[in-house]
Amino acid sequence: MRIDLHAHTTASDGTDAPAALGAAARAAGLDVVAITDHDTVGGWTEAARTLPPGVTLVPGVEVSSTAGGVSMHLLGYLFDPGDDELANELGRTRDDRVPRAREMVTRLAGAGYAVTWEQVLTQCGSEATVGRPHIADALVANGVVPDRSAAFAGPLHNSSPHYVRHYAPEPRRIVELITRAGGVTVFAHPGAHRRGVTVDDDVIADLARAGITGLEVDHPDHEPATRNRLRGLAGELGLLVTGASDYHGRGKPQPLGAELTDPETYAELVARASGRTVVTA
Ligand code: AMP
Ligand code: ZN
Ligand code: FE
Ligand code: FE
Repeated sequence: MRIDLHAHTTASDGTDAPAALGAAARAAGLDVVAITDHDTVGGWTEAARTLPPGVTLVPGVEVSSTAGGVSMHLLGYLFDPGDDELANELGRTRDDRVPRAREMVTRLAGAGYAVTWEQVLTQCGSEATVGRPHIADALVANGVVPDRSAAFAGPLHNSSPHYVRHYAPEPRRIVELITRAGGVTVFAHPGAHRRGVTVDDDVIADLARAGITGLEVDHPDHEPATRNRLRGLAGELGLLVTGASDYHGRGKPQPLGAELTDPETYAELVARASGRTVVTA
């Protein structure tokens, strides 16, 4: 079984429509794919409706979070999206991403970069969770940078003067809400330090006490030493270990299925969740 538990669509900052995810998974030889857009479940229905035979969909989300000023991403799977408090938190984050992205565009334009808010909206569309990748796409369209990666290495980097934060709940709160909604939680790319500051092991230990289910150890942004360290930590803390591509379509180099979760771990995640079931055609 080939299982990839982290993929984005145009409901956030991926480039494949939710209706194209199932076919992309099938083309990549996957048996199981999770839809995990940033701070939204907006792609679930279309992704489920368009699943080809032989592909199982895991409904999920990648929730933005901050702990002591450090940005973290938490994957939630198989939860009930109707939970009011959870829906409110996701909505609050999505809403605050708009003035945040506008402020980044204002700063970039003020520094001489060719980009307008209208151009970012054109890249993003009206339904998607807006993020820096859409600003990157506008910069690419204007010929300022060749691709998203170059935009993130430069003007959009976390340490850039044009970077602006947005509202995001504390990780403990997200773990509580998703668990209460019947879901399971996995800390996404905990060691992706090239993107910015990562949290210390004690934060991960706190999350384990708060009931987090697993760590995404096998991720394209983790080098071998990081994977070994995180695998050891997961063992010490009794957490499951997952692997996933963090697929963004044309927005990132890695293809679907670039990293995988083993079938026993997948079965354990499904067994521990009660808010939603996996979807098959
Ligand atoms: P934001 O949530 O608006 O702060 O933007 C972060 C998003 O940008 C995450 O989805 C990342 O996957 C994406 N991202 C981070 N670094 C890169 C990169 N080098 N190339 C493309 N996308 C990136
Ligand atoms: Zn993303
Ligand atoms: Fe992420
Ligand atoms: Fe992601």
